[in-house]
Amino acid sequence: MKSYQEMSQEELMQERASLEQQYKEYCGKGLKLDMSRGKPSSEQLDLSMPMMDVLNSDTHLNSRLGTDLRNYGMVDGIDEAKELIASMIDTKPENVIVYGNASLNIMYDCISRSMVFGVMGGTPWSKLEKVKFLCPVPGYDRHFAITEAFGIEMINVPMTSEGPDMDMVEKLVSKDDAIKGIWCVPKYSNPQGISYSDETVRRFANLKPAAKDFRIYWDNAYCVHHLFEDKQDELLDIISECEKAGNPDMVYEFCSTSKVTFSGAGISGLATSLKNKEAIIKRLSVQTIGFDKINQLRHVKFLKNKAGVENHMMKHAALIRPKFEMILKKFEEELKGLGVGNWVVPNGGYFITYEANEGCAKSIIAKAKEAGVVMTGAGAPYPYKNDPKDSVIRIAPTLPPMEELIAATEIFIICVKLASIEKLLK
Ligand code: PLP
Repeated sequence: MKSYQEMSQEELMQERASLEQQYKEYCGKGLKLDMSRGKPSSEQLDLSMPMMDVLNSDTHLNSRLGTDLRNYGMVDGIDEAKELIASMIDTKPENVIVYGNASLNIMYDCISRSMVFGVMGGTPWSKLEKVKFLCPVPGYDRHFAITEAFGIEMINVPMTSEGPDMDMVEKLVSKDDAIKGIWCVPKYSNPQGISYSDETVRRFANLKPAAKDFRIYWDNAYCVHHLFEDKQDELLDIISECEKAGNPDMVYEFCSTSKVTFSGAGISGLATSLKNKEAIIKRLSVQTIGFDKINQLRHVKFLKNKAGVENHMMKHAALIRPKFEMILKKFEEELKGLGVGNWVVPNGGYFITYEANEGCAKSIIAKAKEAGVVMTGAGAPYPYKNDPKDSVIRIAPTLPPMEELIAATEIFIICVKLASIEKLLK
């Protein structure tokens, strides 16, 4: 196959004319398709409906320790739920605080607390002239929205196939004490589906930040979200690596069951050193007397343990894997070798990232929209919504039914080709 770069002007114009014809046909269909939302499909949510039956009016709502879960208390969660969360992220239950329905709120709260009260005796960040965060890119837009909301300056760090560019991370954190944190999605990252290598995790654990109150925001949102039974990424436990490196307090790790059971109606956790945990609970116990322990028990009774979670996640994988495979197969057949972009083949997570030729992402997304396909906005995976190369597009395959996803992918592919040709003919 000839790449577009190898084609003559005439050949390109011919190709464009044929693509425009196909594009027009799709535009005339009045389609309304959506590849923008990283949400589970209703079939995935159905998998957790039996969780609704694990408690009823006859259930003894006591914790293992005998505490009445219908009443106030246990601000860091019930032991059974700590064990469940710990098993998902391979850490120890004593390191865990079980929070409420979802995890983004914990991250917001950690930043907010650091702004107002400081981190373990440090100056409140709001009193400092400048606070900066490192942002591996492409990354998760809602992370960037939190730091932006607090006026924290965000610095892009490019992702590699093994995680963030660690040479850059090490250099920046060691010389600038205004850098207080870094956003990480270490496993099946949003949006590329990349998992950090052992070396990357160890380099994180061994950072020597200039700021004593520097924290790694380790958002392990996709810890158990494998697409395959036999091809699963392994992630080193950052908490024990930090302990080994003599940096026990340097990490906050987050996770939730939002994409295990019900999105926004799950349970969530923060795992960190015992010292950090104590400092956090001191503040947390002013905010709340405790989270929803009945939902914690419901999750424990339904998911049970690590094996239970793994078994449940394989049911999710069976539903979403064909969607990922369909898109990747079409990319392989239609786009490979054309010189119109690249993509990473993930082993898990919720997204596929398409890296278009420089200067093409906005145009592709606009074209897709006109043909009835909503994509995540260009620039969304970057701080300040600014993709400097205008090339990264996040594709979310999970929500739409397969037939819709097939049509949306075909339209997307035509838009990629058209935008790439237009760029070359300019
Ligand atoms: N973190 C990442 C990386 C995500 O992709 C998402 C959801 O898409 C979340 C956190 C949100 O998690 P929660 O529902 O627990 O707030």
